[in-house]
Amino acid sequence: MLNRQGRPTAPGNDNGTAITTFTGNRGLDHEELLSFEQDAPGRCGVDLPAPPKTTERLGGLARRDAIGLPGLSEPQVVRHFVRLSRKNYAIDSGLYPLGSCTMKHNPRLNEKAARLPGLGDLHPMQPVSTVQGALELIDTLAHWLKTLTGMPAVAMSPAAGAHGELCGLMAIRAAHRARGDARKKVLVPESAHGTNPATAAFCGYEVESIPANEEGRVDLDALARALGPDVAAVMLTNPNTCGLFERDVIKVAELTHKAGAYFYCDGANFNAIVGRVRPGDLGIDAMHINLHKTFSTPHGGGGPGSGPVVLSEALASFVPVPYVVHDAKGFQLVEHEGAGGHSFGRLKGFHGQMGMFIRALTYMLSHGADGLRQVAEDAVLNANYVMASLKDVMTPAFEGPCMHEALFDDRFLKDTGVTTLDFAKAMIDEGYHPMTMYFPLVVHGAMLIEPTETESKDAIDTFVGALRHLAERAKAGDKERFAAAPLLAPRRRLDETRAARQPVLRWKPPAPAQAAE
Ligand SMILES: *Cc1c(COP(=O)(O)O)cnc(C)c1O
Repeated sequence: MLNRQGRPTAPGNDNGTAITTFTGNRGLDHEELLSFEQDAPGRCGVDLPAPPKTTERLGGLARRDAIGLPGLSEPQVVRHFVRLSRKNYAIDSGLYPLGSCTMKHNPRLNEKAARLPGLGDLHPMQPVSTVQGALELIDTLAHWLKTLTGMPAVAMSPAAGAHGELCGLMAIRAAHRARGDARKKVLVPESAHGTNPATAAFCGYEVESIPANEEGRVDLDALARALGPDVAAVMLTNPNTCGLFERDVIKVAELTHKAGAYFYCDGANFNAIVGRVRPGDLGIDAMHINLHKTFSTPHGGGGPGSGPVVLSEALASFVPVPYVVHDAKGFQLVEHEGAGGHSFGRLKGFHGQMGMFIRALTYMLSHGADGLRQVAEDAVLNANYVMASLKDVMTPAFEGPCMHEALFDDRFLKDTGVTTLDFAKAMIDEGYHPMTMYFPLVVHGAMLIEPTETESKDAIDTFVGALRHLAERAKAGDKERFAAAPLLAPRRRLDETRAARQPVLRWKPPAPAQAAE
């Protein structure tokens, strides 16, 4: 079908019903062309007279050629971005059950603090004497991260969870090297997050996978057998990606230390235990904390994240530069350690994600100790409420209560002809972003649901109602409808492999002759 512009409606956008529209729009869901396809050369928004010639205003770097931006009027630009924003699913538009991601509400108070002029206008190249307040803020946040985790040191600069893992492993490698011990292997349980083996491999380590037991937790005997003089570290995710607390964590720490290795804990799921457990008391040597999860700074769409790493006494001196110190003259940044320093070097430009630091500290201070503790309690309560409300129609992967996320397998879909993927796509038609699926790998057809503590009982009940409805429909033999889902989204089901491997980064309309076929 050709739309108003004489172009075919975008691929995958027939809505599976007999209804086709002249505009390509689907009711109030507007089809939107790329801005370059709306280009009318010379058209623009703001029309001010050309400024009088000033010499060398850009230091002689005057632009010589046009850079090819499309000509668009102001209303076109506004509509373009508003329409695109309406195609985006966000925590601000609905419950976002993506397990392992902790998609909680981002309080607007945090945003207000991050925009305070003295903070919002900071520049990382400012002289240290003019940013004393900002350094104090980093130092205060560092203090609370150390207090909440019971750890003596923290590296603030990592820009995300996986970056924090890299920081932790680089500190561990530096510590081994400092005593002339070049260990080659990192042990990673199957119940760990996928970034853990990826980080260890990126760091040049050989990765050995440790199986999970039938409870979804690390198999302690297998771990003990794998530990030896060649193992540099054990990386445990706790709570793990099955949504379960690794009860043997203290035993894991003891075994790891006895073998001369360091104990890395993936703390991205700290939301489930913040205020209740201090990782330092469990024997952990390094753990990253995702500020963009536990401390509510916005994420999704690739950033910005922030993944400070708390470190034990044994690793504290290997922290990356720069770091903040405080003396009688005020706050200083250590950019280079002199002779005798152990820092493994610089991990990132500048000092870390300042905007995230402000939001995270605002969140901590506005909640207080009791509030943070309640965050963990409510997150765990909500996940268990989801699990209990669905366990008669869906199949929980493991017996017993969960932590912050509820994990189901696909046994309830047996013989229905509906797969986990179909089920997830059908959720889009119900107005929800799908849960995490096919992960963790140890569970067949996994569906991992993390409601977070910021959802009300009403919101969870509606979500549970939608999933119950879908589970019952699947069992009633509605597999064609599932195979076709989503029917009510801006795009139909895409070929996900091709979408990832050969992304169409610019949609070029085919020539009209071809389009008419
Ligand atoms: C989110 C997450 C990570 C990775 O964090 P990023 O900030 O996305 O790099 C690692 N481990 C676990 C358990 C996670 O949930």
